Amino acid sequence: MTTVTVWNEYRVEKEDDEAREVYPEGIHGAIADFLEDEEFDVQTATIDDPEHGLTEETLNETDVLTWWGHEAHEEVADEVVERVRQQVLSGMGLVVLHSGHFSKIFKRLMGTTCDLKWRNEAERERIWTVEPGHPIAEGVPESIEVPEAEMYGERFDVPAPDTLVFTSWFEGGEVFRSGCCYRRGAGRIFYFRPGHETYPIYHQSEIQQVVTNAVEWAENVNSTSPSFGNVPEPPEEG
Ligand code: ZN
Repeated sequence: MTTVTVWNEYRVEKEDDEAREVYPEGIHGAIADFLEDEEFDVQTATIDDPEHGLTEETLNETDVLTWWGHEAHEEVADEVVERVRQQVLSGMGLVVLHSGHFSKIFKRLMGTTCDLKWRNEAERERIWTVEPGHPIAEGVPESIEVPEAEMYGERFDVPAPDTLVFTSWFEGGEVFRSGCCYRRGAGRIFYFRPGHETYPIYHQSEIQQVVTNAVEWAENVNSTSPSFGNVPEPPEEG
């Protein structure tokens, strides 16, 4: 069974009435809820847990980590970020959501600023599936309409994704690479844009489908680890 750790900063839902109304159990609660329905083994962790809930033991048993953060990225300890990074390089999947684009872990894994344009005016967003044959697009319609969203616009300062699965259009005219696949070491990383705290986006079934597919895709199914370093003898011929 796939073990998923749903990580959430869990600050804005405590501070902001609007956010609390949309996500009374926190964003992690909403995400854990629909992932549990898919029969994943789900646990949650937040920034205020000891070691942010990301101890060595927790990470060792995690197949896929999902990450939502917003205003406290800088409070995440570098030691924990490095621990997560090592785990990704050795095969743990990572699904980074919405404002997680500015998390230390995502920036470190991308090596770029991960900056973008934004505007929070409850605009309509249409997310187009541009790679319909991809596992993350399975069962996802040609386009998903989000009635009210925060706009993220290009340029999104990330490396060109290995595969771009979704592209967003916004009412104001901007576009954005909304579903980006990467590989770092043995780990698979997916960035998925939707999910502002004051809109019920994670309650939307098509969005839940994408996150669920992303978790399945990001799980490392390759159990052989590469060996590194000096190899004294050439391999014997067949
Ligand atoms: Zn937001």
